[in-house]
Order: sequence, then structure tokens, then C-alpha cells
Amino acid sequence: MTIPREIIEDIISRNDIVDLISSYVNLKRAGSNFNGLCPFHSEKTPSFTVFPASQSFYCFGCGAGGDAITFIMKSENLEYIPALEFLAARAGIRLSFDNDAGKTASERKKVLDMNLAAAKYFRACLFDSNIGKSGMDYLVRERKLSEAVIKHFGLGFAPDGFRGLTEHMKSLGYKDDELVRAFLCGKSQKTGKAYDYFRNRIMFPIIDTSGNVIAFGGRVMDDSKPKYLNSSDTAAFKKSKNLFALNFARRHCSEQLILCEGYMDVIALHAAGFENAVATLGTALTAEQSRIMAKYTKKVIISYDSDGAGQKAADRATEMFSNIGLEAKILKIEGAKDPDEFIKKFGAEEFRRLLSKSRTGFEFKSETILSKYDISKPADKVKAAEEFCEYISDIWSEVERDVYISSVAQTLRISAEGLKNDVEKARRKKINIFRKKESSEAKMNAMGIKDRINSYTAINRRAVAAEETIIGLLLIYEEYRVGVIKGKYEISGEDFISEFNRRVFEKTIECQKNESFSMSLLGQFFTPDEMGRIQSMEVKRKMLTENGSNVLKECIEALKKEKSLAVASENNDSINEIQKLIESKRTVKDKSTNE
Ligand SMILES: [Zn+2]
Repeated sequence: MTIPREIIEDIISRNDIVDLISSYVNLKRAGSNFNGLCPFHSEKTPSFTVFPASQSFYCFGCGAGGDAITFIMKSENLEYIPALEFLAARAGIRLSFDNDAGKTASERKKVLDMNLAAAKYFRACLFDSNIGKSGMDYLVRERKLSEAVIKHFGLGFAPDGFRGLTEHMKSLGYKDDELVRAFLCGKSQKTGKAYDYFRNRIMFPIIDTSGNVIAFGGRVMDDSKPKYLNSSDTAAFKKSKNLFALNFARRHCSEQLILCEGYMDVIALHAAGFENAVATLGTALTAEQSRIMAKYTKKVIISYDSDGAGQKAADRATEMFSNIGLEAKILKIEGAKDPDEFIKKFGAEEFRRLLSKSRTGFEFKSETILSKYDISKPADKVKAAEEFCEYISDIWSEVERDVYISSVAQTLRISAEGLKNDVEKARRKKINIFRKKESSEAKMNAMGIKDRINSYTAINRRAVAAEETIIGLLLIYEEYRVGVIKGKYEISGEDFISEFNRRVFEKTIECQKNESFSMSLLGQFFTPDEMGRIQSMEVKRKMLTENGSNVLKECIEALKKEKSLAVASENNDSINEIQKLIESKRTVKDKSTNE
């Protein structure tokens, strides 16, 4: 059975891997990653690493690795689907795989009709001077919204009670189970009857670019929790594929789009004349949302809350945008906690000025470092240089590293060459730590002595190394996966020599063809042990300096030579033929075993 990728992506996006693994392993921050003692083998020094940026983990000791689903499969000893269910329950997602029928067009239409009726009901409640008084007071007095803005966004109010919407919808002929499926109602454990899901909340209808009400977000009016309640996925709504206010913003965002954290920020921005603002729907930014944005705009300004959590989320979003080649800048909000508060305090013009000062991830980091030190003092200058060095040494792209090195050298008035040396030293140190961490088992696997996952390693290590380099690069870069599909890189499953790597290659490309590659999707086709191997291919590639398309091309060429050599020896061709191939093979520099 293949599980809809939206479901997998939703579950993954709502289970942050650091948060998840923290409840099993005592994690300590190490640079941009986290380390801890591996729960899967016994060790005294931590070689278990969690990578928040790619939401994955890898143990340099025993080779265990993968994503949140793999982690749960291994630690709870579950199969793939029970592990998904485990994570869904942890995130409060209702899971039903038997909803093929529910996905039909008629079910979608029905949910949309129900949503529209509910939106009208919520709006009527808000504008009812009796029922909606607290809601209207909150919007007008506290949030300072005009009636025009409230109407423009179709805001509403869900009264405090369990029967209001339910009774109203039933009077329109809808049944309990339909209301539950549309996520407008919950189902009572005791009586099995439907009850209002949203209670005593301001209601934000989520409207798609065709004007349909596809879902709702509900916000409390005080500090009670949860602050926001959002519809889960229905036949008409995929949380990971929609953005709040894109229906308005799409006409104003060809130059740049502002990405906010909350609905109220977006509404405040639109009201102040920034109609190019959108927000995600109660989850961290997903890869699909970033791709949707890329269709509408050239540049995204990330305008998250000024607190630590907001800034961390902004860092991750920047990385997602850079992965798909969309320019992203981060807005630094000073003197207010979020864009809404900033505009109320300082006005729209000040915000416009702030927008023009938004910075790239590096500029942002740079400012943070420089604000900590007085670089006219030699000791401070050294400390600042060290922090820059640490930051830059984590960047995989050599070109990017060079650009930052020369910029930092100029700012600190130090020698670029010296800084470059330090950065390379830091990178080598990181690579060495990684090499040392590889346990004897991992080394034996690498040498092919006892490789349970890919038995071909013992037969032809060079071929397997080339294959693993190719796969590692494809796992990291979408651009290479697309390149393979479009024929820019000439490689197919047939070129692979080892059965395991061929399977990984084919599944990776298959997922990409459905516009939805992620490690988590691969998880349903491979065992947790195999996932560890796949994760190691990605991790190893990321540790290396050279990841350009030339490496990919050379490894493809090397693999093809190995393949023809293998075929030739199988066919018992003339010794001469083989000799010739061996000669030509020597001329191909084997990048895969190079660092
Ligand atoms: Zn381990």
C-alpha cells in the first residue's frame, strides 16, 4: 500500500526531529546540529547526530540513520505504518488510510459547501451584537482592525458552546459524520455524536486561489492554549500545500512576498498596505509551500517573530528557499515582538523602511556576531573571526564560502587568505571527527568485508563508491534529481551495478517525478537498516568539499566504465577488450574516493 504523500509530509512537518528524539536521547547542541549517546548501540562518547536542517539523524558509530519515521520504527520496534500512526497520534493528527472514496471530487465539493455555510455562520455570529460582542470587541479594540478589513478577510466568531454550529449545519441537512470528516466538528467519545470543534474563537477562513473556503484557523482571544486551532487535512484541504492570504497576495507579489508566522500579522500587513503578505497554516514551512511561493514571486522576505524560536524557524526557512533557488531575506524586527505589533507602534512607513533593510541569512548572522564584539579591540576581533569561521565552515558550497570569506575579511580588516585557511582547517577538523567516529563495523562495511545491506560492496568497491556518491548528490540537490529526469545527466537504473543502490536510485527518481521527493517518502520502500545506509550516503557527501555537477558527471562516467567492464567479463570477451577498458578507466580521476 502506498500512503498519500500529503499525509506523510503533514505528519513529518508536525514532529520536529530534535523535539522527538529529545524524549529518547539527551541531546546537546554542537554547531548547527545536536549530539548524544546512540540509543541503538552502546557507546561512551556521543556519535549519534541529529540534523535539524534536514530533519534527519545519523549515528557515526553503528550507521543507524534516517528521519523521524525511521527513528520511531527502530526505537519503538514498529513497522512503517504503525510508526506513522504513532507520530500522527503524537502530533494530534487523525489518521485514516481508507479514505480513497473520501478523496473523490464529490466529497471535496461537499466539504467546500459545508465550509462556505460554516463561514457564513461564523460571520453572522461575529456581527451579531449579542453573540459576537466579545469577538468584535477583541478585533476592533485590541487588534485595531476596521470593519472593512474584518469583512475583506471574512473573519468570524465561533461562540462558546458545543452545539451552535453543529445544530446550524444539521438544520441545513448535513450529517454528523460529514461534519466530522470536514473537521468542523469533533466526535464525542461517549455518545458518538458531533460537537462544535471551534469554540469561543476568532475564525479565519482559509481561502484558496480559486476563492473556495478550504479550511479554518481559530484563535483564542486571551492567553489560553492552544492559541491557534487549525483544520486538519480534509478532502478539500492540504495544510502543507496552502498559504493563508495567497488568494489576495498573488496579485501583489511578483517582485517580493512577505512570509509571516501568524494570521494576525498577515491581516495587519494587508491593512497597512502590504498586500503581498502570506502565512503558513500552523506548521513550519513545508517544501511544497516554498515551491508554491517560487511560482508567484522572485524574492521572499521572512518576517517571523523576533524571539528565539521565530529566528530559528527563519533560519530553517532560508535554507529551504535556498534549496530551490529562491532568494530569501530575513527581516529583523526591533522594538516589537512581531510585524503586527511593530506596525501598531511605529506605523507602515517605518515597516517599509524595515523591509528595505532586510538581509540575507549571512548578513543577518554577520550583524548578530558584530553586535557582540568591539572589533577595534584585537581580542574581540579574534573572537568574532572565530565565530565567522565556525559559521562559514558549515556551508557546503565552496563558491558561497569564498564570497563570505572575502566579505568578512573586509569587515574585520584581516587577511582573506588567513581566514580561508582557518575555515579549511575547521572543515578538515569536522571531517576528521566524522572519520574517527566511524566505528570498526562501519569501516568494515565500507571495505565490503561484511556488508549486510549491500553485499556487492565486497565484489566491486569502486563501483559501489561511485554509486553512493551519485546517490548522495541526488539526495541533497533537487537540481540534480531534476537534471536526471530531464536527461541533463545521462544515468538510469540500468547503469547501476549493485542491486541495492539501483533500487535507491530508482525510488529517488520516482519520488521526484511525482514532485515530492523527501527522505520520509523513501522510508516506505526500505527497512530502517537500509535507511541508515541511505542516510549515510547523504551525510558523507555533505561532509565533503566538492559537491559540484562535475563530481556527479565524473562518477556517472566512472560507473559506466565499471559497468561495461563487468558486462565484458561476464560475456567473456577477449582479454584485449577488457585491457582497453582498464586502460581508459585509469584516466578517469576517481572523485568518489577523493575528499
Ligand atoms: Zn549508534
